[in-house]
Amino acid sequence: MSYLVTIGLEVHCQVKTNTKMFCACETSFAEEPNTRTCPVCLGLPGALPVLNRHAIEKTLLAGLHLDCGSPEISKWDRKNYFYPDMPKNYQTTQMDLPLCIGGEVPVYDFNYPTDVRKDIPRPGLKVRLNRIHLEEDVAKSTHLGTTSVIDYNRAGTPLMEIVTEPDIETSAEAFAFLRSLQMILQQGGISDADMEKGQLRCDVNISIRRQESDPLGNRIELKNLNSISAVRRAIDYEIERQWEDLQAGIEQIQSTRRWDDDRGESQLLRTKEDAHDYRYFPCPDLLPVHTEPLLEKVRPMLTERPHERAGRYEKDFEVTAYDASVLAADLPLANYFEELVATSGSSGKKAANFLLNNLLGSLNERSIAISDSPLSPGKSGALLGLVEKGTLAISQAKEVLTVLLDAPDQDPAAVAKELGFEPADAGELDALCDQVIAANPKQVAEIKAGNEKLINFLTGQVMKASATKPNPKQVTDLLKGKLE
Ligand code: ADP
Ligand code: MG
Ligand code: ZN
Repeated sequence: MSYLVTIGLEVHCQVKTNTKMFCACETSFAEEPNTRTCPVCLGLPGALPVLNRHAIEKTLLAGLHLDCGSPEISKWDRKNYFYPDMPKNYQTTQMDLPLCIGGEVPVYDFNYPTDVRKDIPRPGLKVRLNRIHLEEDVAKSTHLGTTSVIDYNRAGTPLMEIVTEPDIETSAEAFAFLRSLQMILQQGGISDADMEKGQLRCDVNISIRRQESDPLGNRIELKNLNSISAVRRAIDYEIERQWEDLQAGIEQIQSTRRWDDDRGESQLLRTKEDAHDYRYFPCPDLLPVHTEPLLEKVRPMLTERPHERAGRYEKDFEVTAYDASVLAADLPLANYFEELVATSGSSGKKAANFLLNNLLGSLNERSIAISDSPLSPGKSGALLGLVEKGTLAISQAKEVLTVLLDAPDQDPAAVAKELGFEPADAGELDALCDQVIAANPKQVAEIKAGNEKLINFLTGQVMKASATKPNPKQVTDLLKGKLE
């Protein structure tokens, strides 16, 4: 017996703006409660909203980054319900004419959870979007025993709702989708999309059915998911729960459930029958928006997206597909990489190796982010340049790197010299090679007979005899020339 899973996500994402959606209050996080409020965001009678142009522009920009279209005219609607965290008793949102329609999110393979990365069922998956609309966030309630307290600082913060088509089939895909979306929004400067700060929140809709020819099952909506890993756990739990019901012949009633991540289970909140009737109607206080003039303004702000950057690294720098995607995923790392290529005079492939395998490894050991690297790309470039010139072997460059990380003001060439990593005097090195060849006739014979690896032994002898520590590769090359 098997089944098919269908998942659609509704992602709420705070737009990065200085002020709120309909008033001039500052957007804030973790400020003194109720200090960023005014009559508009407190819903006082007679207060009138004023549109935040930046929030609209950023949402349109999000649409461009996600290949959405936009209707010519986008309008505002009131969604009516009573909630203490929405004092106007309606939320201003968008119903039938959202700012963005359609679009898609490329799901990056490297964003899958590590345990599935080796066996991704649908590599290169693209999840279609249904729409992106702009609305206002609600206040934050905290429940303390029998009372609740409310902080209106968050009320009225611009909030995008990104709705996917039901294109997702596994919890791992949902996980990778969210990370990819988060990355695109962050790099595009649209949102910080920090889930821990509540800037990115997500509701999950799930249904299952037995086979392709069956209609989609009734969907269950899961709320209260506050991390990407919780989304994965909640989906796995819900699939299991629905599958057990299906086997027992129990049909799902369209409903909303609350995920309890500590207990690892969901509880029923409400079924479709007692769903709210929001009685949407067009907001009489706000004019519809002509999208084209605003789109024209934001089009130049569309930046390179991670998959495009990775493609460029592969094509222009001949970096492997995997390295390219790793570099492109992190903007500070990508910028570091490009400067490193420019300053080292080294190939992109070598620069990527040095950056990912040597520098990043050393920084990780010290818990330092690339953006805080004590070594500037220029300094790393100078070091890598010494490898490029043949002065240093990569193993020697690593030792220089270790010293430089603790003394970043020093010059890479000077540190190399201090460590004794100096090209030996050419004549002296030549003489040393001749000596070692003469002193080891047995090994030389074996090398000539085809045991090429044994040349490393001779290299070692030359290195030992040398007063400085020349680049072993240079020594090997010199020996090879002599033995040919
Ligand atoms: P509503 O406005 O009532 O929440 P939407 O049409 O906006 O309904 O759908 C909400 C989400 O549910 C979308 O992401 C959509 O892809 C998803 N969805 C719709 N039908 C199903 C289904 N049968 N199974 C799983 N997800 C679904
Ligand atoms: Mg919805
Ligand atoms: Zn306000």
